[in-house]
Formats: sequence, C-alpha cells, structure tokens
Amino acid sequence: MARQIRTDQDAIEWLAENHPGIAICETGRGQFTSEIRECRRCGGSGIFHWISMGRRVAGGCFGCGGRNTEKLIHTRVLKRARQLRNNETARLRKEKKSRDRVAANTASANALFEDSGLLRFDAFIAKAYPSEEAADGAREGRDRHALNILQDLDRKAQTWGSISENQIALYSKLANQITDAIESGEASAEAKVATPEGRHEITGKIISIKHSDGEWGITCRMTIKVETDAGIWIGNGTLPRKVYGQFDGDTENLVGRTITLTATIERSDRDDAFGFLKRPGKAMLATEGGAGCSSPQLKSAPGSAPEGTRR
Ligand SMILES: [Zn+2]
Repeated sequence: MARQIRTDQDAIEWLAENHPGIAICETGRGQFTSEIRECRRCGGSGIFHWISMGRRVAGGCFGCGGRNTEKLIHTRVLKRARQLRNNETARLRKEKKSRDRVAANTASANALFEDSGLLRFDAFIAKAYPSEEAADGAREGRDRHALNILQDLDRKAQTWGSISENQIALYSKLANQITDAIESGEASAEAKVATPEGRHEITGKIISIKHSDGEWGITCRMTIKVETDAGIWIGNGTLPRKVYGQFDGDTENLVGRTITLTATIERSDRDDAFGFLKRPGKAMLATEGGAGCSSPQLKSAPGSAPEGTRR
C-alpha cells in the first residue's frame, strides 16, 4: 500500500525519495517546488495546433510566444507530490491492466486452439517448415494466401481472446490443406534427399526470391530446388551479387530460372533435405528456355560437383 502524503513534510520526503532532481524552496508563504517545465500549452515545441474551418492549422504558441517554451514553475510541495504520485499510480495501473489483458487473451486463445486440436500460427509454422527461410519461401509461394489467412485469424484470436466457430473451422481446413500438400509433396514425385555438405558446384531452379531490409541494407535471398537422381533438396542463400546486379529491382523474373553456382552447403538441423548456401560464387544463369550451352555445368569440374547432381 502506498504511503500517505498528508503534510508538507510527507511531501518533501516523498519528493526527495522519488524525484531527487526537484528543488524545494522555502518562502514566507510555505514550501514550494521549483522546476523548469515545458510550456503546458505546446509541450515545449513552441507551436500550437488547432482546428479552423475543419482543417488542422499550426501557429506560434500563445502560452509561451514560441520563445520561452520552458518556464520556471513553483507549486506547493503537497500538491506537486500528490500530482506526481497520482500520475505514476495511474500509469502503473494502466500498464498492469494492459499486461493482464494480453495474458488473459493469450490464455483464452491458447485454450480455444488446444480444444480444437489446432496449433497457434507460430507453432504451426515452426512444425510445418524446416527453417525460417523455408517458411519465408512458402509465404511467397503457392500457399501464401492460406498462410496470410491463418496469420490473420491467429491475430484476431489474440486481440479478442476468441474467434467464431466458422473462423476456427476455416483455420483448421487451411492448416490441414497446407500440411497435406507438404506431406504429399514429400511422399510423391519429389522424394527428398539429404543435401551434400561442404563446398560444391550446384545447379538448381530458383523457386522463390525474398528481399529483406536489414542492418546492411536490402538483402536478397533465393531458394533453389536441386534435382538429383535420388530426389530433390532445397537450398537457400544470398542471391549472388552478379545475378542481383543483372536483375536489380526486377528479381521476380528470376523465379523459375536455372542457376549454377559454387557454394558451401550447411545442412539444416531440422531437415536433412534443406541446406544453407554460404559464400556463393561463380554464379551463372542458364540461358532462358534453352539447354543453356553456355552453362558451366557442362564443364567438368573434378571433385567439385556433388555426387548424384544432374541437370
Ligand atoms: Zn508554448
């Protein structure tokens, strides 16, 4: 329980403890705080906004003339201490209320999904795809609409703590469709095979391109499908600079093209058939539509091609 602030002495003690920066001055009329505070009318910006004829207009603040945006203000210690403490109590109460609401909605949404035998969106993605890169690729591929709907429904459930029976049914249907497609894709025509490891020359088809804005500017990653006699594996890595340069700004045109490059392959811990392509080099696109007589994979590169790699 918060301490009572009844007297000037209580106020001075509370201020010293909680706001040691605030000076106190003694006058003939009692004790006052002495603070430099921003103009209350403009918040210290010197500019005041108002609505005139339905439009938002701005002008010099009348309170401070736009010049003296900070003022020395004296307030009775008792009044000021109570003011500050009430503000803090209100802020803490509001924060707790918002935390409680998020926790309650999460619990209620989790229970709803669990009762319906469903995974929340993030858990579904983590289970369905072998890596974040694979999930990102899927979000730009065939299942992108379904995935967007799933995510939207999950967000609604998080915001409201619940969604309707129809929405749950839709979520379940789409999630099953995606998992079925992934499983049948794995089982049928495209049997998967473990990625090679180490540095190799590889040739694959670009199945998606993803841009992301990061610390080092825009980076562009590609996901490629490599076919071998035993099955396919998926590689993901930075789009080689040389290729990026050729298609700057229009990299969507790259999807479907065949690329050959040398890269160090690091197999994913979560999926043997998924590899990260590190330090890509010697990249070359096959001539569009043709057999690509200029493609370097025709050249023999002893010891550099992974076993079983074919075009
Ligand atoms: Zn002002």
